[in-house]
Amino acid sequence: MPISIAIDGPAGAGKSTVAKKLAKELGFTYVNTGLMYRCIAYVCNKYEIDLNDKERIARIPELFGFKYIAENGNFSIIIADKIFPTPELYTPEIASIVPKISPIEPLRAFMRETQRDIASKHNIVMEGRDIGTVVLPNATFKYFITASIKTRAQRRYEQLLDEGIYLNYEDIYKSIQQRDILDQTREHSPLIQAHDAVLIETDNLSPDEIVTNITDKIGMHIDNTRSL
Ligand code: C5P
Repeated sequence: MPISIAIDGPAGAGKSTVAKKLAKELGFTYVNTGLMYRCIAYVCNKYEIDLNDKERIARIPELFGFKYIAENGNFSIIIADKIFPTPELYTPEIASIVPKISPIEPLRAFMRETQRDIASKHNIVMEGRDIGTVVLPNATFKYFITASIKTRAQRRYEQLLDEGIYLNYEDIYKSIQQRDILDQTREHSPLIQAHDAVLIETDNLSPDEIVTNITDKIGMHIDNTRSL
């Protein structure tokens, strides 16, 4: 059975940076499930799909063709003949659409099956919102990574600035706060910490410190599994 490391937590907590580094260090496949939902939001936006038309939105993977590529530590999605991630998935517009489409249960069912399929074939570090609770309740290791909204907004502000995108800090703060509420209060797969997940608060920790902390703890288990 492949090894799975589930990393859940709210927007901007540092999950992606940690998950990517961890996957690289362990030689595991990195899987970004937020990217999968963002691609659906992108298609809704680009093809002007009515956000109330849940049936159509749930069929987007089938209608536009949905494929994932997981190789050399990179995770990509192909949809509507385009390969992602691209910066256009990280605009405020997509950030506002994605929590509206992600609660659609038949869409989540498709994503869940796809994510379980990946996990059944590869050693993975999978990041998202419901990985330890719903997608992989028997994940080998589970982490819930979080930070205060202030820290998360500041990080996103700096990250966007690095990419040459200037957005008002207050607007980023409000968008993160709003997304937290929608993700935590939705009916299906809300963002909650799995009862058996290890909580990591990242306000005063660097990504390297977190990765070292995790690899120190799980390294021995992985070495033992590899020698079986
Ligand atoms: O992780 P990221 O910020 O890219 O996720 C974007 C959005 O996708 C989240 O706000 C959430 O609405 C949705 N999502 C989800 N379940 C996941 C991953 C992401 O509902 N496993």
